[in-house]
Amino acid sequence: MLHIRNYINGGFHDPVGGEWITNVDPSTGETYSLVARSSAQDVAIAVDAARAAFPSWSALTAQQRSKILLAVSQKIGEHLDDLALAESVDNGKPLWLAKAVDIPRAESNMAFFATEILHTETSAHHTDEHTINYTVRSPLGVVGCISPWNLPLYLFTWKIAPALAAGNTVVAKPSELTPMTAFLLAQICSDAGLPSGVLNIVHGYGHECGAAIVEHPLVKAISFTGGTSTGATIARTAAPMFKKLSLELGGKNPTIVFGDVDVEATAKQVARASFTNQGEICLCGSRIFVDASIYDRFVAALVAEAERFTVGDPLEPTSKMGALVSQAHMEKVLDYIALAQQEGGRILTGGHRITLQGRCAGGFFVAPTLIEGVDTSCRVNQEEIFGPVATVIPFSSEDEALAGANSTMYGLAASVWTNDVSRAHRVAHRLESGIVWVNSWLVRDLRTPFGGVKSSGVGREGGVEALRFFTEPKNICIQF
Ligand code: NDP
Repeated sequence: MLHIRNYINGGFHDPVGGEWITNVDPSTGETYSLVARSSAQDVAIAVDAARAAFPSWSALTAQQRSKILLAVSQKIGEHLDDLALAESVDNGKPLWLAKAVDIPRAESNMAFFATEILHTETSAHHTDEHTINYTVRSPLGVVGCISPWNLPLYLFTWKIAPALAAGNTVVAKPSELTPMTAFLLAQICSDAGLPSGVLNIVHGYGHECGAAIVEHPLVKAISFTGGTSTGATIARTAAPMFKKLSLELGGKNPTIVFGDVDVEATAKQVARASFTNQGEICLCGSRIFVDASIYDRFVAALVAEAERFTVGDPLEPTSKMGALVSQAHMEKVLDYIALAQQEGGRILTGGHRITLQGRCAGGFFVAPTLIEGVDTSCRVNQEEIFGPVATVIPFSSEDEALAGANSTMYGLAASVWTNDVSRAHRVAHRLESGIVWVNSWLVRDLRTPFGGVKSSGVGREGGVEALRFFTEPKNICIQF
């Protein structure tokens, strides 16, 4: 069976403790590889390698680092088919989706930050005729990057690319549920000429290996994407050590549909926002607020669209949705559907596990599910489910829609659907959210700030924000 080994100092290594975690293909329920169960000892070795590599990596010019990272990007593109297949098997997502989104985005992440560092500026402030201040930005040293299972290579590269481009060396941990593409990336980085020790990838459980990265005194910053409670645990450890922290956490994103929209066309986009990637995207809209004047028509169109999200073998091009990432996650999602019914919700479509025939008979599939009749204060409308489950809620005024939309502890993303341009701006400004899409969803420009407010996170990724996070400014004041 394939062993997913740690990548430290340019080589592949078994974990010091010799223990392995089973890695399951969620579309079949069968174990297909073993993942290194790394401990604080493995992390310490990785940090030593990263420290040793830092002086020479950070001393390269931006052009030299850019050239190497562009080579990594190009090789990701050359391996599109292998990486997409690995991602689909590891995560359960449709192969076509991994090919169209996950891997191309990983390629763009590397290329984007490799070229962004060629276009940055530093600032200078002329205080008076005898005094000038200028600011330089330096890399931090060794940084830790911890990423989740929903968009494995996409989010892994979203963190390591700016960290490396800015001149840091990295110790990174992908989720132990989906470590395969990060493992494959290690070889790609070696082949592209990334020097040994610049990127180190350790695998294992979050509370062991992930916690050891956060606790290590020589890791200067942590960039984390994952659940809100894990983010709080990380903050508790990192804060007294005064580490820089970027936390991209959970969401419970509202979708607001006003009465002036094209009902059919909007229902199609709203279904896409709810069920893409099995609803396992932190940006998915899971609470759909619909103007009472079109509620019945819109819900009928939305149900029809949800039922077009065919659930099937992720390797088949006809499957619009694949498997959820694990049995435990599927059970959590099914528990929330049961809870919704206890809270008075009516299932409009879905609401159950799907058992497929043949190869995927043991897989973790759940039907796309729409629920109505649950109050905004219910647990299913307050807690992140992170699966193919959305609730539909009627509203009678803009204020009522906004009050409902802003009623959770989260504030990551929102989408607003209307043809009234004044209302679009007004509502976008009043939403408590780091990201607002109007008449669109998941349209991304890598230059824009990405992140949430309230319990959805601290700090921003993307564009210049990411390079700022991974560097420290120093102001130099000269009098002459
Ligand atoms: P988790 O918080 O469980 O895990 C995220 C990563 O952190 C994993 O690698 C995990 O390892 C690791 N980890 C867990 N505990 C610790 C710890 N104590 N110290 C250090 N690392 C730890 O999230 P999931 O993997 O379940 O991902 C889903 C969550 O991610 C959802 O809440 C989703 O909203 C959020 N997310 C947020 C995004 C954003 O940009 N805001 C984007 C995508 C997802 P292990 O796998 O071993 O537990």
